[in-house]
Amino acid sequence: MTESDLLTPAAPAPDALDALHAFVERHPRLFVLTGAGISTDSGIPGYRDENGAWKRSPPITLQEFTGSEAWRRRYWARSMLGWPAVGFAQPNGAHRALARLDSAGYVSALVTQNVDGLHQRAGSHGVIELHGSIGHVHCLDCGAQYTRASIQPLLEANNPEVAGAFAAPAADGDAHLDFDGNLPFAVPACAACGGMLKPSVVFFGENVPRERVAAAAVALDAADAVLVVGSSLMVYSGYRFCAWAQERGKPVAAVNFGRTRADPLLALKVEASCAATLEGLTARLMPRFNEHEEHAGQRPDTAADTARSGGEPPRTATNTDIER
Ligand SMILES: [Zn+2]
Repeated sequence: MTESDLLTPAAPAPDALDALHAFVERHPRLFVLTGAGISTDSGIPGYRDENGAWKRSPPITLQEFTGSEAWRRRYWARSMLGWPAVGFAQPNGAHRALARLDSAGYVSALVTQNVDGLHQRAGSHGVIELHGSIGHVHCLDCGAQYTRASIQPLLEANNPEVAGAFAAPAADGDAHLDFDGNLPFAVPACAACGGMLKPSVVFFGENVPRERVAAAAVALDAADAVLVVGSSLMVYSGYRFCAWAQERGKPVAAVNFGRTRADPLLALKVEASCAATLEGLTARLMPRFNEHEEHAGQRPDTAADTARSGGEPPRTATNTDIER
C-alpha cells in the first residue's frame, strides 16, 4: 500500500484492485459506461443515493418543460443558480485515469450518462454522451444552437432578484431552489426566432436518440467486456448495455458505491472511490506511465476547490435530445 492509498478516502482494498487488474488484462478492450458517481468528486451532485433512490424530488420531465411556462420559469431559475457548479467543474482523477486508459488502448468505447463534458475535458476521445450536453442549448422551433455559457449572462441580467439567491447545486446543472413558477422570471428565448430554448440534454421522459444508442451498440460488439464506473444503472438507457453484454457473453465489472441494478449479473464489483480505484488500476497497468505522471490525479477536495475557483466552462460536442 502506498502513502497515496492511505490518504485517499475509500480506496479500494488491495485484493479488489488485484481482481480488477486481472479483469482488464483478460479483457483489454473495454466498453466503459460512466454515470454521476464519477463526477461527484468534481463537485457535481448525483441524483440518487446508495440505494438508487431519488435524493430529493425527481427531475423535470420533457412534458413538464414543454407544456408549461411556469415549469420553464422554474427550470431556468434553478438552472441559473446551478450552472456555475457544472460549468466551471474540472475533471477529477477518475476522468483523467480513463483518458490515460483510452490513450493506452484499453478503452474501445466510452459511453457516459453524464452531461457535464468532463471526459472530453480530461482528454478522452470519441465519447458517446447518451444524455447529451448541459454545455449547449438549442431552439425547439428553428434548431439554432447556443452555448449554455452564452445564456448565463442574459439570465442573470434579466433576473437580478433571483440571481442573488443562494441555492445548493443539484444534478445536471440544477439547483435546490424552491422557486414558484408563477412568480416573474424572464425565460431566455431564441435570438434568431424568439422560439423556445431547451438545454441539449435528454430530459426524463425523453428517449435517447436512436443513432446514439446504435453507435454504442456497435461499440459494445467490438469490446471484450463492460466496465461500469459510478452508476447505479437505475435508468434503462445505461442498464441495457449490461443486459446486452450478458446476452453476448461479455462479462461486466463495476466500480460503484452501493447497489446497482446490474448487481446480479456482475462478474466483479469494486465498492470504492472511482478516482482511487482507476488511478490504482492505471498504476498497475501502466507503471512507467505513472512514474512520469506522478500524482497527476487530484484529491477530490482539490478538484472541487478548482471548480469553485473558476476556469472556462466546458465546451462539449453538441447533441440534442431522450429515455431516462
Ligand atoms: Zn429559434
